[in-house]
Amino acid sequence: MYLVAVTGGIGSGKSTVTARFAERGCPVIDADRVAREVVEPGEPALAEVAGRFGDGVIRQDGSLDRAAVAAIVFVDDEARADLERITHPRVAARMAERIADLNAEPGARPDRVVVIDHPLLVETAQAGRFDAVVVVLAPEAVRLRRLADERGMDPEDVRARIAAQATDAERRAVATHVVDNSGDLASLLAQVDRIHAELLVRSERLNAR
Ligand code: ATP
Repeated sequence: MYLVAVTGGIGSGKSTVTARFAERGCPVIDADRVAREVVEPGEPALAEVAGRFGDGVIRQDGSLDRAAVAAIVFVDDEARADLERITHPRVAARMAERIADLNAEPGARPDRVVVIDHPLLVETAQAGRFDAVVVVLAPEAVRLRRLADERGMDPEDVRARIAAQATDAERRAVATHVVDNSGDLASLLAQVDRIHAELLVRSERLNAR
């Protein structure tokens, strides 16, 4: 199995890129979804989060109030470190399970290219776990416009999120492949198709060794 992480800042085009990899036949694991699953009601991590941050972060229906937690850790580094100590090992373990499940599928090829949609790859220092890292980049102004036009997001809100995320330079530093998403959709998809073809060759080579 050849593990490929796709990362990029908010609105860079990660989901569009991973969707294209999926169209090309790659299984995709969504790291954000896994991160949400580990704090679902009944999960031990949720009880630990409530123990650390108080019942104020639990909604009436027993689910985690993610916005309440985000507000706390946004201004308190120690709280953020505690949250990460609770959640990160579990996210990593569950991702490993997903990968093992894919490996165990009948007829799974050993050189299969598996894509992980990993928004916080750089922030969580996970790049070393992957055979390849695809970084999706687009200028801030383009991202602000796309997110405002297509999702109605407030540009100020998007700017604040961008400021809290890793920088493009930090992402480039771990990239094996860089996608330039400043152009149209056709250009984006063509780049992904080229990268996909190259990753197939790399994974076959690695497996033949
Ligand atoms: P998020 O960080 O919020 O998950 P993302 O990085 O996954 O975002 P996408 O959802 O793929 O980004 O793209 C953001 C928005 O911009 C979407 O509405 C998408 O359809 C649009 N978009 C992405 N790439 C292009 C492009 N090249 N041309 C036009 N629109 C695009």
